[in-house]
Amino acid sequence: MTHEKCLEKMMKIDSLEIATVDESACPHVRVISARYFEGSTMVFLTARGKAFARQLEKNPNVAVIAFDEQANDMVRLTGKAERVPEAEQLACRKRMYEVYPYLENVYPGETKEIDVMYRIPAYAMEYFTLKTHPITREFFEVRGASREKKGYRISDACIGCATCQSVCPQQVITEGSPFVIDEAHCLQCGNCFENCPVQAIEWLGE
Ligand code: SF4
Ligand code: SF4
Repeated sequence: MTHEKCLEKMMKIDSLEIATVDESACPHVRVISARYFEGSTMVFLTARGKAFARQLEKNPNVAVIAFDEQANDMVRLTGKAERVPEAEQLACRKRMYEVYPYLENVYPGETKEIDVMYRIPAYAMEYFTLKTHPITREFFEVRGASREKKGYRISDACIGCATCQSVCPQQVITEGSPFVIDEAHCLQCGNCFENCPVQAIEWLGE
């Protein structure tokens, strides 16, 4: 998997869910269908008066998720949205209406001037699939964005009892000193963490 292939997956899926946070740090999630990729940059449309646009102006942090019908294959993207520069707004809107002609029914004629285009140029991306065994997780950092490291890690406090191996549903812990979790195939379910007799397993991240 590459991040370009992840983007292709995101374009094939009819709609994406995108989450923002408001001034009170309350999360909001909404579906966006009108988006395209310019190279690796995701461009999307909303209207200036919508709560969505207001939230983006105040807090650009976004998380986007796309998954197939069975939710077995998922792409997640986290980054900061920015308003497309004024000089490029019109061209981006034109392109968006070409890709999604139905928009003409939503904003006919001059009413489309209320539209505003945003883009997410730099982001961390995660591909996650349940179609393999063990499951597979891959990470990409696009244009210098850094991802928040999270997941389980085994510390030097490990005494090598192998309890974690026996309770891991994906069998992704290998023997060693200390034992090691394979992040690329870990469900992050926490079963090893809960069963370690000496609390040698740590959660990294928030
Ligand atoms: S259960 Fe804890 S102590 Fe035992 S092998 Fe796993 S990490 Fe090490
Ligand atoms: S978090 Fe779950 S899947 Fe990952 S290593 Fe621990 S038990 Fe296995």
